[in-house]
Amino acid sequence: MPAAGLRERVLEEAGRCAYCGFCEAACPTLRHGPHRGYGPRGRVEIARRLLEGLSKPTGEAVASLFTCLLCGACRVKCPLGVDVPLVVRGARSLYLAGVLGGRVGARPRLRG
Ligand code: SF4
Ligand code: SF4
Repeated sequence: MPAAGLRERVLEEAGRCAYCGFCEAACPTLRHGPHRGYGPRGRVEIARRLLEGLSKPTGEAVASLFTCLLCGACRVKCPLGVDVPLVVRGARSLYLAGVLGGRVGARPRLRG
């Protein structure tokens, strides 16, 4: 999918999120991260801000997106059926294509 179309599709899906947080308990990575960016709600917010040009990629933002397992456990729990893996995959693709403001070094801060 061309970058413009992908950005539009990802923003459409991210825009469906109500930021209710019902999905967070299902996420296997959230409890291992230092903040909510390592969970579904945070990842949707990070992706949305990056794609809307409201923030530039930082090491923290990139680590948050790339530590997602794309398992879909959050989607099952979401009352609106938001496809968080689609949002994360799309944001990763656009980041790797270099259209979100360049590439940065990222070091995930995961704890056991
Ligand atoms: S993805 Fe769904 S459950 Fe999670 S915060 Fe957004 S609307 Fe709520
Ligand atoms: S798809 Fe990503 S954000 Fe959703 S539950 Fe799995 S690891 Fe967490």
